[in-house]
Amino acid sequence: MASLKLVPGANPGHMKNFVIIALLVLVAGVVAFGNRQSRSKPPVKPAVRISETRAPKPSAFASAATENASLRNELTWTFGGKQQRGWYLYDLLIGETLNQHDDPATTDFAESLAKWQKKRGLSADGVLDEDALMAIVSFWQSNRLKNKDYATPDQLMIAPTSDFYDPSRADELRQVERTTYVAYKKMIVAAIADPSLKLAHTGSGELAPREQYLKIVSSFRSREYQDNLRRQSPNSGSAGLAVNSPHFTGRALDLYVGGSPVDTKDSNRAIQVNTPVYRWLVHNADRFGFRPYFYEPWHWEYVR
Ligand SMILES: [Zn+2]
Repeated sequence: MASLKLVPGANPGHMKNFVIIALLVLVAGVVAFGNRQSRSKPPVKPAVRISETRAPKPSAFASAATENASLRNELTWTFGGKQQRGWYLYDLLIGETLNQHDDPATTDFAESLAKWQKKRGLSADGVLDEDALMAIVSFWQSNRLKNKDYATPDQLMIAPTSDFYDPSRADELRQVERTTYVAYKKMIVAAIADPSLKLAHTGSGELAPREQYLKIVSSFRSREYQDNLRRQSPNSGSAGLAVNSPHFTGRALDLYVGGSPVDTKDSNRAIQVNTPVYRWLVHNADRFGFRPYFYEPWHWEYVR
């Protein structure tokens, strides 16, 4: 009876064999259990690790990016006593300020905005809502001309008709502050040298008579002339024709950047902010000392 030989106690030699077999079975069981555990672990553990390292940061800015995509066209805010809709007209200026040239609906854009907000002690959520926009607008406005003193006659010169969008403009309407004019001419030379702008020019580095882009639409304005303009368009509001205009200094130039030269309608400004010349100004004008007035794509002030 072979089975009896395995009965414990039947024989000391068999007993020893039984203990060894039992130990082997136990070890095998533990190993198998351990293997089962370690085999079942890999699919679970990395999944946990991925969600721990990847999730928080991008998902925070993903929702900001979604909000920005809608605020860009829909945000209601007020400027100069007028209700405004969205901030898409300022994409380029915002991009320049944040040093971030990705689409405003991206998480990278939201992250850059959050960094800018943090630097200024604002809530760094990366959402370009009214608070964030007002902070950016204040920053732009603070970079504008600080000395608003009325130009004295000796500070002004009469620029040639060839620099003007309307070459029939009278002498008194072609006055420019002297250092501003020098800076303007340097900027024109640089713009002509950029082949992507395809500006028609003369052999001596001037804009050709037939070229309209970057010609001066308006420069120095006397108080009397500004009062006249205001009487002609009484509904322009404080965002339009200022009572205390920077044009009194002779350091503000309205340049032709496309569309209807100086029309603040959103549809007109949408054309202007998309011209190569305007893009070039946003990226380059500061090198020549010119800063923008965000609301009027044509208006640039010489701040040096
Ligand atoms: Zn202006």
